[in-house]
Amino acid sequence: MQLPQNTLEYVLDQDNIILAIGGAWDGFAAGNNGNHLTADRVIGQPLLNFISGKVTKQLWLDIFGKVRIANASANIDFRCDAPTEKRFMRMTVKPEAHGQLRITCQLLRQEPIARPVLITCAKERSKQTLVRCSLCNRINHQNIWQEAGQLASAQGRGHWLVVYGICPACQETLANEMEALVGG
Ligand SMILES: [Zn+2]
Repeated sequence: MQLPQNTLEYVLDQDNIILAIGGAWDGFAAGNNGNHLTADRVIGQPLLNFISGKVTKQLWLDIFGKVRIANASANIDFRCDAPTEKRFMRMTVKPEAHGQLRITCQLLRQEPIARPVLITCAKERSKQTLVRCSLCNRINHQNIWQEAGQLASAQGRGHWLVVYGICPACQETLANEMEALVGG
């Protein structure tokens, strides 16, 4: 697959199993401390195995279902931050024949994070965990969704244990986009 730099692409079958993957995937996964996520280890696996959190899994299932029903592409902007930089990404979910989906993730831009943050995904929710939004990467601290870098500066520390969810602002944005896709 010939793809622009900073783009990764994968194809899912009708059951959301990863059929093919291309682009900057290996380099990207390694850059995100995701060394275990090399192409040879993800092909043939359900995509949902690589998504953390029940809410986020359901969100992607909803999006994939709606794209297939509408037979129209959806664009979703999200963040995929690394410890020292904010990464602004755009995902395009495009329907193809036989219920397959072609998903392209493009890095739009990146910005440094003033104070590096280390975020570890917890196995389950506990008193120590905070909720991080899968889409905007903000962290819910005392009911305020904040940028990790800001929270790190305010707290003088930058290591958190998180579980993944979707913040209310992202839920609303997505609901509107999905409504537009399927014609409300
Ligand atoms: Zn959010």
